[in-house]
Amino acid sequence: MEKIWQEAAAMQEELVAQRRDLHRHPESAWTEFRTASKAASVLEALGYEVLCGAQVIKEEDMMGVPDEAVLEKAMKRALEEGAEQKWVEKMCGGKTGVVGIMKFAKPGNVVGLRFDMDSNEGGETTADTHRPVQEGFSSLHEGLMHACGHDGHVTVGLAVARLIAQHKDEMSGTVKIIFQPGEEGVRGARAMVASGIVDDVQYFLSGHIGFNANRDGMLACMTDGFLATTKLDAYFTGKSSHAGAAPEEGRNALLAAAAASIALHSISRHGKGVSRINVGVLDAGTGRNILPDRAVIKLETRGGNTEINEFMVSEAKRMIKASADLYNVEVKIEEVGGAPSCSLDEDMGEEVYKIAVASDKFSEVVPKVDLGASEDCSYFMERVQQLGGKAVYMMYGSSLKAGHHNSAFDFNEDCLSKSVGLVTVLAKHFGEK
Ligand SMILES: [Zn+2]
Ligand SMILES: [Zn+2]
Repeated sequence: MEKIWQEAAAMQEELVAQRRDLHRHPESAWTEFRTASKAASVLEALGYEVLCGAQVIKEEDMMGVPDEAVLEKAMKRALEEGAEQKWVEKMCGGKTGVVGIMKFAKPGNVVGLRFDMDSNEGGETTADTHRPVQEGFSSLHEGLMHACGHDGHVTVGLAVARLIAQHKDEMSGTVKIIFQPGEEGVRGARAMVASGIVDDVQYFLSGHIGFNANRDGMLACMTDGFLATTKLDAYFTGKSSHAGAAPEEGRNALLAAAAASIALHSISRHGKGVSRINVGVLDAGTGRNILPDRAVIKLETRGGNTEINEFMVSEAKRMIKASADLYNVEVKIEEVGGAPSCSLDEDMGEEVYKIAVASDKFSEVVPKVDLGASEDCSYFMERVQQLGGKAVYMMYGSSLKAGHHNSAFDFNEDCLSKSVGLVTVLAKHFGEK
């Protein structure tokens, strides 16, 4: 095992270069053509069986897919920026998932490792205090930024793939390295899970840089408190009319959306645990002197468990419909993202803890932290657990320059080589267990 740790540490410089290349080329949910193509090329060159596109993404379960024009533009951009045509072709329609599979000579367990790839939909700060600005690796894509650390996750995944391939004679069982699109807005995992890709996985590992492991050299072995969540868009359609001459002929979609927004924030609290609701976008109307015939609200619900979230969703839908009725307009509600809550496997987490402590590579190893947010990795974990497997979600410690999703987000790249060593060692351990 020590050799793996040493080799991981020796990779630090190239990990930084890889992360910075990905940071310069952020791609948001379902448009990760360049990132996914890179992953597929690397996996293939290392001798993995590579599955991608419709092989690992079930179209009916994709949520919140951008329209064709956006996909087309992103595909073209990816090809201009070095993506390989043969992979990009397979990812049409935004099916940018990639899985690398390697079976080893020694029998053992199927281990699944999952890394999310997408950027955020928000621009990067140009302040000269921001290290990507100072060191010249800021986003080249306007309005997009890796503000969550997924550029780091992909970097770790690619390096783990290489280390595992280099040590394949010592490994047991099978490893599946999963590169997931569309974590932001919790849109991508459901479609990958529906493809059946983790149905044979006995040990599943994933993790995130930062969050509640926000000190350098820290590792959190387990993460609890995944909030179940649902993302909804509601489109209100009324009838426009002259605001001066014939307002009585109109049906006001703007007022329906406004009434719904206020009602939604008054959904009852739930006695069994935490709940959240947020209407984040309200867009309505066409002009000052026209009765507004269109409005859209974009909202999300969350719950401490799946049951609470379902309560929030059904109440939200009821209030949206009632508000539409109130103003005599039509409403169409679309579900554009979602993730269940999930439980962690303490015994698997304890093994991670022991291995991390024994390695002496982390200045602080914490058994468990709370996420207090949502992560659609819970789809994978839930599926693996339903079929008798075990799952753990870790947090790789890093001090953060600003919070996740902030335009000044940045993490300490020192966490990359540590994470690579850890995940590789764990893949070996759970494969032969
Ligand atoms: Zn994230
Ligand atoms: Zn995020």
